[in-house]
Amino acid sequence: MILELKGLYLGLRFSSAHIVFGHHSCGVIHGHTYYIDVRLGGRPSGEFNFLIDFKVLKKIVKGVCKNLDHKLLLPRDHPHLKYTLEENHLHFVYAQGGCKKEYKIPVEDVLLLPLKGITAEELSLYITGLIREELLKLKVDNIEWVEVTLYEGLGQGVTSRMHLK
Ligand SMILES: [Zn+2]
Repeated sequence: MILELKGLYLGLRFSSAHIVFGHHSCGVIHGHTYYIDVRLGGRPSGEFNFLIDFKVLKKIVKGVCKNLDHKLLLPRDHPHLKYTLEENHLHFVYAQGGCKKEYKIPVEDVLLLPLKGITAEELSLYITGLIREELLKLKVDNIEWVEVTLYEGLGQGVTSRMHLK
């Protein structure tokens, strides 16, 4: 059985800025509104025979969205980025081939994620991992896998699936 949340209808979304460093058109600071669909595979269980209480899953996904919302998302593990913290600012330099770009942004405006790049692919995996961690905390044994589709704007998205065990 598959239980599903549709982010477009439920407001499971966040608006963030990113940079796809080195990309000919996406290598500048720009933003998207991202939507998250979540699917859980498993069997009904417990007093109400739920796969999971919709409210519980919505709360988890809303928490994930809130954390990412209205930030410049940056990839901590990008091979060509160097970060330096200067009091209240994050200073970072992108250098690759003959291209060099320097930025200085207030720390409260940015979120440094443990990723190699801020792409729909990487974000989809990252968010699936976060939701998986929250589900594991519930200590449920009836959910087999979690699948997340991250839409970068409407109509284009990336799906990742992780097993709970
Ligand atoms: Zn983009």
